Amino acid sequence: MRIATITNWAYGATVCLTIASGIVMLMASNADNVERKAVEQRQVFDQLTEDVETDAWALSDLARLYVVNKDPDVLTEYRQKETSLKTIEHRLAKLKDNGATGEELALLHEGLQVIDELQDEQQTALASIARGEETRAVQLLYGKPYEQELDRVQNQIDHFRQLLDRRAHAAVEEATNTSRTLRTLSEVMVGATALLFLFVLGFILKRRVLRPVVRLSDVVHRLASQDYAVETPNFNQIDEIGDMAQAIRIFRENGLVRQRLEKERDADWAIRELLARMTQRLQGCESFTDVINVAQLFAPNIAPGIAGQLYILDHDPWQMRCAAQWLSPQGEDSPFHPDDCWAVRRGQSHPPSNEAPDIACYHLPESCSGQSLCVPLIAQGEAIGLLSFQGITSETAPSRAYLELMAEALGLALANQRLRDALLEKALYDPLTGLRNRHHLDDTLRTQMSQAMRNDEPVSCLMIDIDYFKNINDRFGHEAGDQVIKSVATIVQRAVHNSGLAFRYGGEEFLALLSGANEEEAHRCATEIYNGVHELSLRYGLSEIGPVDVSIGIASYPEHAQGDNLLRAADVALYRAKELGRSRIVSFGMLEAG
Ligand code: GH3
Ligand code: MG
Ligand code: MG
Repeated sequence: MRIATITNWAYGATVCLTIASGIVMLMASNADNVERKAVEQRQVFDQLTEDVETDAWALSDLARLYVVNKDPDVLTEYRQKETSLKTIEHRLAKLKDNGATGEELALLHEGLQVIDELQDEQQTALASIARGEETRAVQLLYGKPYEQELDRVQNQIDHFRQLLDRRAHAAVEEATNTSRTLRTLSEVMVGATALLFLFVLGFILKRRVLRPVVRLSDVVHRLASQDYAVETPNFNQIDEIGDMAQAIRIFRENGLVRQRLEKERDADWAIRELLARMTQRLQGCESFTDVINVAQLFAPNIAPGIAGQLYILDHDPWQMRCAAQWLSPQGEDSPFHPDDCWAVRRGQSHPPSNEAPDIACYHLPESCSGQSLCVPLIAQGEAIGLLSFQGITSETAPSRAYLELMAEALGLALANQRLRDALLEKALYDPLTGLRNRHHLDDTLRTQMSQAMRNDEPVSCLMIDIDYFKNINDRFGHEAGDQVIKSVATIVQRAVHNSGLAFRYGGEEFLALLSGANEEEAHRCATEIYNGVHELSLRYGLSEIGPVDVSIGIASYPEHAQGDNLLRAADVALYRAKELGRSRIVSFGMLEAG
């Protein structure tokens, strides 16, 4: 109920109580009037009865006096009094109209009758005087019966007065009581009005105003400090407080929405920053392992709570191989054929949206269907890998755009890495034999020598040259020569496989670096190469190429040379082998001994 309504009701009740109180006051005043009237009536009656009494006595006295002195003036006065008494008696006869009771009137009439009887006796006495019967007149007016009559008159009037007094007293008392009661009632009503006002005022102030305002003030205070967790009071009353509560509720809801939007914006910024940082780190990657580590670190932060896997497309065999995974995805991480993934097949994210039913990728376990997302890693229009996410729900999922951005950055990084590896391979490896080339040798030799010096270990170098290779070229052609070079390279690679590195040093020259191998072990490896080549039986087309031999020079650190001239020493040994007629193994140590 609105406060205005309550106030109106209270006002109405107060007006009613005030009017009622006024009426009661009027009634009390009326009771006073009744009292006053009763008193006035009594005074009138008193006055009249006193007059009657006085005149009756005066008449009696005048009659008696006249009987004694026979003065005519006295008689005249008597007659006048007699008229006056008649008038009074006439007024007394009308006392009924003035509120006298039957009993009172009966008494009064009795008294008046006695007075009349007295007057009759006085007339008789006066008549007796006129006849000269003076004695009889004196007997009549001064006799005992006359005295008794007078006493009777006196008694009647006294009795009448007593009755009058009693009635007047009762009327006054009743009027006084009524007046007092009504005044008390009026005071009670005024008190009730005041109490009603106080109660309404208290109720409105405390229950409807003070308490809600204090509560709302607390809520507003907390909302002002951006504490939107505060519960807004549910004041559903239809008044100003209810309106304020409603406004505060709307303000809080708006605040919550704004807070959520700010949170989402902050989270969005955080993800963007992470994406930017991931892209920067990817640019600094120098190997596939670096790329995989970066993906494994950033992916669970960019998509919190979402398990995922990074697959890389291998060409041999043709399959998607799991390179990294995070937050324990379901299913196995075994390789699968690229066609098992709809995202790889179509070259775009799959499923296109989470809501609509769509076919699930075959490489995913059934349990995570409907909550998965595969994003292919595309480079130059081809899928080179895959990001597979599981447990994506509308609440947990960041924007798909971010996952696709992440995939794009990873795809680029992997493609760059692949390109870089290809370029590196081209720069460091010989395309014909697959062995390391001479550019690779400088770095490798420096590393191996410093490692050997640090660990005090030997290092040996074999310099291998195919004998009379020019003849093979000349006789069978360049392609046949290439085939011979490849075959010898295979033998060299196989011989040093476990203990060293093989290089193509020049046209038909090879070099083997054997870390940890002394001269004797190097000699053993050289013999293996020599025998392997010697036993080669090569054909080119229909013709047999014939026996191929190599000359090998050996030098070992620290016996024959220091770090910077190990190759030179091996070359000297090779040169010696050629000098000695080729197809042989010569160690630098043999030169020193020889
Ligand atoms: P020697 O026993 O003294 O080593 O005689 P050789 O004929 O093996 O040596 P020479 O230095 O006279 O000839 C090397 C030849 O190898 C010259 C060059 O045309 C040929 N050659 C160099 N690189 C290649 C290559 O990649 N393929 C082919 N087929 N021949 C090559
Ligand atoms: Mg040669
Ligand atoms: Mg040569």
